[in-house]
Amino acid sequence: MKFLADAMLGKLTRFLRIFGFDTIYANDLIDYFQLDPVPDEKLIEYAKRNGRIIITKDYDLYKHYTEKSFFLNGEGIYNYLKQLNKQCGLKFKFNLKRARCSICNSQLQRVENKNSIKKLVLEETYNNYDEFYQCLNLQCKKIYWQGSHIEDIEYKLSNTLDFD
Ligand SMILES: [Zn+2]
Repeated sequence: MKFLADAMLGKLTRFLRIFGFDTIYANDLIDYFQLDPVPDEKLIEYAKRNGRIIITKDYDLYKHYTEKSFFLNGEGIYNYLKQLNKQCGLKFKFNLKRARCSICNSQLQRVENKNSIKKLVLEETYNNYDEFYQCLNLQCKKIYWQGSHIEDIEYKLSNTLDFD
């Protein structure tokens, strides 16, 4: 499943990418369409053309594309993830091998030689971790590792999803 998240869902976009879901953010299409904000009909056109499911908090947008969009209720990132889990069956299990770059949605590649990224992360991070991944997009090249922030997210998420 590939997604297109509306302009209100920047944080959700980053979470979905980290969990390995290919997700385009509406505001990332501003340059592409030369329109800010990108109008609903353009988002729908883009989603159709690229086989993406729209995730939105905008009921109007949802209404115009009910066949392939998902409407989120309420507020809060864990609430959103729970709805996507319960109603779309998305599983949120972090795996660096499947993760996508939270900034640009590109795929990641394992860093073969840890030494090569030494200058790109904090010394403490470099010393504490052995496995690093890097964004394949040459304009981005962000570095990822299985840090404690990821474990916090997983812990909070497992509590949220157990709650019914
Ligand atoms: Zn990137």
